Amino acid sequence: MLFDSPVTLAWLALFVGLCVGSFLNVVIHRLPKMMESEWHEQCAELRGESRGATQQLSLARPRSRCPDCGHQITALENIPVMSYLFLRGKCSACGSKISPRYPFIEMVTGLASAFAAWHFGFQWSALGALILLWSLIALAAIDFDTQLLPDAITLPLLWIGLAFNLNGVMTDISSAVLGAMLGYLALWGVYWAFKLATGKEGMGYGDFKLLAALGAWLGWGMLPAIILLSSIVGAVVGVVLIIFAKRGRNIPIPFGPYLAGAGIIALFWGQEITRTYLGLLT
Ligand SMILES: [Zn+2]
Repeated sequence: MLFDSPVTLAWLALFVGLCVGSFLNVVIHRLPKMMESEWHEQCAELRGESRGATQQLSLARPRSRCPDCGHQITALENIPVMSYLFLRGKCSACGSKISPRYPFIEMVTGLASAFAAWHFGFQWSALGALILLWSLIALAAIDFDTQLLPDAITLPLLWIGLAFNLNGVMTDISSAVLGAMLGYLALWGVYWAFKLATGKEGMGYGDFKLLAALGAWLGWGMLPAIILLSSIVGAVVGVVLIIFAKRGRNIPIPFGPYLAGAGIIALFWGQEITRTYLGLLT
């Protein structure tokens, strides 16, 4: 069969991943704006005002436009990565620069999808890995931009993870349920301990939900590795930012991108990592 070849499958996943990456760019850009306009509407409603018919932003419409001149992006200009290279990173109408982040997200999503297909083969676990990867990429970028981890992604991700593991796709169901519980409660506990000790909020509820989702997908046994990996990378990046970028110590640094990154590492190499550090202990 066609999908028996891991190379064919990886190529297919690369193309699907590039297109999904293009869609993730829209999600990353628009979802925080959609949430914001919803909050404004709720506030207006509480104040007893009616805001009239404002233009509704959704993931599907309006079509993508150049933020500088309003030129509507044509289908030909919307081909992942290729269009960016062809347009040399400039809007075809006004020549203003297109952020290299768009092709970067597309490239990362494409390559990670190809790797997942190659790593897991033609199995349900590959489909699960793709859903998890795509959600984590979107969450990391949104948290990086806005310090938010939208419930609209974290909560479905958690439930879909449990659904997959009903049949033991990534881990057995009791490990998945424990993972979701412990993932949430571990960070919830850290949050309250930190808040009671210092009066400050070290992280947000979105972080608890994200770790719960990772626990639901990968099982409770992966949680120590995920927390360890994300704390190490987070601490290193945090210190570097404070020293070199002269960032104040009190400016919150989003933890979500590190959690997401650690989740991706655990998805692919979690077993090996866990085995290694358990080996070091005994
Ligand atoms: Zn333009």
